[in-house]
Amino acid sequence: MVDLSRFARVGLGSWPTPLEECPRLSEALGGPRVLVKRDDVNGLGVGGNKLRKLEFLLGAALAEGVDTVITSGGMQTNHGRQTAAACARLGLRCELVLTRRVTSLVESGARVAPRDDEAYERSGNVALDLLYGARLHVCDTDAEAEAIHRRLAEEAAAEGRKAVTLPVGGSNAVGALGYVAAAAELRDQLSEVDRIVCAIGSAGTVAGLALGAALLDWPVTVDAASVSGPIERHTADIDRLTAEASALLGVPAPSMAHVRVTDHALGPGYGVPTPAVWDAIRLFGRTEGITLDPVYTGKAAATLIDSVRTGGIPATDTVVFLHTGGLPGLYGYAPDLIKEAEA
Ligand SMILES: *Cc1c(COP(=O)(O)O)cnc(C)c1O
Repeated sequence: MVDLSRFARVGLGSWPTPLEECPRLSEALGGPRVLVKRDDVNGLGVGGNKLRKLEFLLGAALAEGVDTVITSGGMQTNHGRQTAAACARLGLRCELVLTRRVTSLVESGARVAPRDDEAYERSGNVALDLLYGARLHVCDTDAEAEAIHRRLAEEAAAEGRKAVTLPVGGSNAVGALGYVAAAAELRDQLSEVDRIVCAIGSAGTVAGLALGAALLDWPVTVDAASVSGPIERHTADIDRLTAEASALLGVPAPSMAHVRVTDHALGPGYGVPTPAVWDAIRLFGRTEGITLDPVYTGKAAATLIDSVRTGGIPATDTVVFLHTGGLPGLYGYAPDLIKEAEA
């Protein structure tokens, strides 16, 4: 049992999210039984995985009398957009610091913008951020982002507002509790699951799921597909977040031997889809009418497909693909999207 009732929480999404059988996708893969856990359709602000984290993060913030929320990410951050929607719902002021150069290229290590066209900078999540009433602060580098963060915190203090800064992706120990709860929700829907496949960015989702599964004594494997960097960094993030969240829960940090991080689908770096990612997006669309995105879920799905084809996932497995959202980001790639959809 995992008792989260002593943590402040504010309702933002509708739970449980659907767990859908995907027979046509399973057949096309020629192997495992695949179900999709629809955290992309959980309600507020077009939905996505950040809502589960925000229920705890903003629950704690409200309990402390916060009236201003500051957070940051890349131009097409889904976390920023869901934070903006949650702040609208809760009557909080939302300041989003958006940084253009976020991709650390795998080959050279250079920091670049994934894209710089009109769709990427003015559509998708960016348009929704504005629609939900957030103030946007766009900059080029991490150093500029830090300076803006400091200025916004000072401004809030000078005006007598109480501000909180949420971490990138909402990933800290409190945010991870959202996915500890999700593990219990999923196990109640279907306990005979061999593995869960999902994307990993800032790691709060995988850390929470893996911790929740361990605390429930639920023997599932979590396959995490890197969308943003080296495997070692993700592994270190998972270990740190599960240790901190365990401390918060007052339990010893369990082993994370059931988590497997891969980077098959990462390609050149964050926000850069490969041909295999577009293939995966088309496959989910054409077999199940499910929309993936080119930054996160497309890479997780490409990893699923690759693992089934290469035998990393046995044909006898029952696999839950965790759909973490990201739909608006698809429109940030509009010029490519229409070409890939026609292909
Ligand atoms: C943020 C995000 C992820 C990654 O979740 P983390 O907890 O940051 O690892 C996956 N999918 C989508 C659509 C996201 O927006």
